[in-house]
Amino acid sequence: MTARSTFYLTTPIYYVNARPHLGHAYTTIIADAMARYRRLAGDDVWFLTGTDEHGDKIAQAAARAGVSPQAYADEISSAFRAAWGALGITHDDFIRTTEPRHQKVVQAILQALRDAGEIYLDKYGGNYCFGCERFYTDKEIVDGKCPDHRTPLTYIEEENYFFKMSKYQGWLIEHIERHPDFIRPERYRNEILGFLRDPLQDLSISRPRTRLEWGIPLPFDDKYVTYVWFDALINYVSALGGPGDARFEKFWPHVQHLIGKDILKPHAVYWPCMLKAAGLPVYTHLNVHGYWNIGGGKMSKSVGNVVEALALKDRYGNDAFRYFVMREMAFGLDAAFSEEAFVGRLNADLANDLGNLVARATTLLAGFGTDGDVGASDAGDQAVARAAAEARRLVDAAMEEFAFQRALAEIWACIGAVNRYVDATQPWALAKDPARRGRLARVLLTLADVLQWLGIMLEPFLPDAAAKIRAAVGDARAPRLDAAVVGRLQTIPTVEKLSGLFPRIEEKNVDEQAAKAPAGVGRITIDEFSRVELRVAEVVAAEPVPKSKKLLKLTVSLGEEQRTMVAGIAEHYAPADLVGKKVVVVVNLEPAMLMGVESNGMVLAGSADGKLAVLTLDRDLPPGAKVR
Ligand SMILES: [Zn+2]
Repeated sequence: MTARSTFYLTTPIYYVNARPHLGHAYTTIIADAMARYRRLAGDDVWFLTGTDEHGDKIAQAAARAGVSPQAYADEISSAFRAAWGALGITHDDFIRTTEPRHQKVVQAILQALRDAGEIYLDKYGGNYCFGCERFYTDKEIVDGKCPDHRTPLTYIEEENYFFKMSKYQGWLIEHIERHPDFIRPERYRNEILGFLRDPLQDLSISRPRTRLEWGIPLPFDDKYVTYVWFDALINYVSALGGPGDARFEKFWPHVQHLIGKDILKPHAVYWPCMLKAAGLPVYTHLNVHGYWNIGGGKMSKSVGNVVEALALKDRYGNDAFRYFVMREMAFGLDAAFSEEAFVGRLNADLANDLGNLVARATTLLAGFGTDGDVGASDAGDQAVARAAAEARRLVDAAMEEFAFQRALAEIWACIGAVNRYVDATQPWALAKDPARRGRLARVLLTLADVLQWLGIMLEPFLPDAAAKIRAAVGDARAPRLDAAVVGRLQTIPTVEKLSGLFPRIEEKNVDEQAAKAPAGVGRITIDEFSRVELRVAEVVAAEPVPKSKKLLKLTVSLGEEQRTMVAGIAEHYAPADLVGKKVVVVVNLEPAMLMGVESNGMVLAGSADGKLAVLTLDRDLPPGAKVR
């Protein structure tokens, strides 16, 4: 593992015009998992979040509510604080842009830039959207309307202050080209390089107080307040006390930002130019995630929007919520959020794979005790140790790139290997044979090691479950990544039984649906047929389902999304024959557990006289294409 020392991670500051929802929670949860992981690795970590509180929208919302803008901001800001408290977020600081410590640094930077000739006053006329609080250029306007709000724009002419952003265009392009992972994943880097092919405009950084009172006054002209982005972005600097402060000097050179793709341009273009002009180092990485799409599936009545999605944490628990959002979204891409998918993950990965392993291992250790000599390790024991070491290495590589989904998949690959180890070694059978006492003790020792390993490795992702596992194996040490080694224990520790770590959620809706299904075939209407969502899928991986003669586990791509589908075709196709094939699948089937593997959809195949053929295309179409 690479030696590390100092790490500074920020979430965006959330605008107080909305209450906390899934979008905010996802960004904050992955930031928390990253901060926890780097602390586990022994780094000196500073983790910042907070709220953005100025601007027209806040002033207007406060007026509607009949309260002062400050009182309005106070209320929503504390709702964010409360939400992060309830989610167990471990931020080191929470900044608010209405705090004096922030205003002081914003004004100091503005004054320095004005003194250096980086800010000038100019007349500006343009089409303004009050909803977006910004002017739109002719090129951006769609049918004379705001491209976001689709509402008519207002032509405004006024004097404003401008930041000479245009002069940094060449520098910024070169910086991005020289640092390939400055903006990541790569799709967002390409998007910004594409944007920078057109001339970069100077940035309007002020609004007249006659129009907007709720903001930070310009230090050199109090007829104006600072415009939104110039105020908000500086929070990352002001929270550390600003240039000259010991905390700033220590953490700023190691800063990484984490954002959603909706605020890519201000972070990837305005912010580096502002920092460059102010003579401050730019961030090391801008890490950008995609959007959650809500809906789909029967339970969507209960999850119709992002606020209801976040409420699932109260029904199923923080750890399950954290696991689902990190496991379901490939970092940088969009993902779908549905309660069905949530419950499917909870049952398959948490209740089944992890929960069963912990229950089996702790039951064996608590039941068969710690005495007796430990026999020599064999190839099976050593394979478990190797799987754990390999998983730790791959988790580390994944976390370096913010690939939370991959990190969890690696840990679960190891959990799968250990579950198979328990099946193969059959400790319950060993216990019946006094002559094999030494062998049993070796298996128990390996399982105790694995539990300690899980208690450490799961800490960033499932902090509550990890703490329970460490308590069950009597591991009172502060968890450290370098102690996550299977093969360290010399004697079997005293272990307490831990069952029901993640209780299974009964999918009663699935049965209800089955009961309602019509018995006969008969004719169906086109509407009934159109309820079956068929799509083209590309098989990206295929493997046999353990202990099943008929089933293959397929990983298929639907374009931006990947799914696992179990198909009863193992007697007709070798896994290698299927990889790369474009097939037709049903995508809106309820998930089903088949031999311990959750299937999310169905691959279509025809059969007759014992022969079977999977449906493929006679012309190429992209994965995800609709089939009718
Ligand atoms: Zn707008």
